Amino acid sequence: MCSSVVPAAPAVPAFGDLENLCACHECDLLQRKVPLAPGQSARCCRCGAQLYHAPKDTLNRTLAFSLAAFILFSVANLFPILGLSIQGKHTEATLLGAVLELQKQGMGMMAGLVLFTTIVVPAMELLGLLYVLLPLKLNKKPPGQAAVFRLIQVLRPWGMIEVLMLGILVSLVKLAHMATVQPGWSLWLFGGFIFVMAATAASLDSEEIWARLGRRCPVATQQNSGAGYLTCHACGMLSYAPAGKHEQHCPRCGSVLHVRKPNSVGRCWSLLIAAMILYVPANVLPVMSTSSIVGAQVDTIMSGVIYLWVSGSWPLALLVFFASVMVPLLKLMALTLLLVTVQTGSRWRPLDRTRLYRLTEKVGRWSMVDIFVVTMLVALVDVRPLAAVQAGPGAIAFGAVVVLTMVAAMSFDPRLIWDSVQENVHSR
Ligand SMILES: [Zn+2]
Ligand SMILES: [Zn+2]
Repeated sequence: MCSSVVPAAPAVPAFGDLENLCACHECDLLQRKVPLAPGQSARCCRCGAQLYHAPKDTLNRTLAFSLAAFILFSVANLFPILGLSIQGKHTEATLLGAVLELQKQGMGMMAGLVLFTTIVVPAMELLGLLYVLLPLKLNKKPPGQAAVFRLIQVLRPWGMIEVLMLGILVSLVKLAHMATVQPGWSLWLFGGFIFVMAATAASLDSEEIWARLGRRCPVATQQNSGAGYLTCHACGMLSYAPAGKHEQHCPRCGSVLHVRKPNSVGRCWSLLIAAMILYVPANVLPVMSTSSIVGAQVDTIMSGVIYLWVSGSWPLALLVFFASVMVPLLKLMALTLLLVTVQTGSRWRPLDRTRLYRLTEKVGRWSMVDIFVVTMLVALVDVRPLAAVQAGPGAIAFGAVVVLTMVAAMSFDPRLIWDSVQENVHSR
């Protein structure tokens, strides 16, 4: 892993040398940048986090992929995702239709969450990319490009179309037992969209786009050898931290800069405790209730898993069990462990703890799968008086757990793990 990046020796960069240095966003180790061949990526030589990468022909490729993704996404929202027939009665649901159905049932918060993660965020991300890339291609400079490009990085973790697809797959299996299900046009379009979005992300070189926006690392206005440097959370740029100045903004993207995320431990604890409390109703209260001519049935998350298992779809049962029950629980435990070890200044296995943090941040979003399953079932199974599905209060609590643990993981600063290691090295 060390082969692509040479670790930098000086802890305080020499004046004017910032452009050639970068600090790892996970462990804060200062490293000297190495030029990369197209397609290569550079990783931190201490914790293995990706520092930067160099895709080929970034502007043209990213622009082409985001245009294709935008077309796929727009068309996918016009057509139904799934259709359902029960005894001659037919219903179908578009993504927006499913959100409106939740809203109609009085589940405004859940409707908002689904709308935000599956429609608003992907649309804003794509429109933002086009707003930044298209003028760059045409050598134009509309206002606010830097702010838009920064917003894209902030929004990205909240776009969840791939989790929605898994939710649709689970609903398909659940519904196949009670009715005839037809996959709609937009199911295939969303499938294609996921691949094109992955290609967009892989071809985007943020460093080059920042440079093309005319925001290459600026020459520091002031040499301040004693004060060290600050890394921008949003764009990753390194700048000098002038001593005695409380608030400083990133010269490239305008974000407020901090040595460490402010009040990271306290904020993370409060979000975590709120999530722990809500984890109980999320698992005890019903996430949905089904009423049909045969009778009514309420489902918790666990009974949904058991239903999948008993009906023979055990791979999906395991998947939903892992995503909905294990992931939130492991996430709560992992964040507790990270917070306690950081607060006690532990030097225990910093590399493994950083990896644990990285994993926690990556898998958390997949817990949303049950929220999307309920959304699809509510929208489709509305063939009264034969059958109807209603979302239950457990779904709101569950959605809140997912959001709270995601925000908790985002507010935790992994560099705190390495601070105590560093202090110990210095005090020896
Ligand atoms: Zn690192
Ligand atoms: Zn910045």
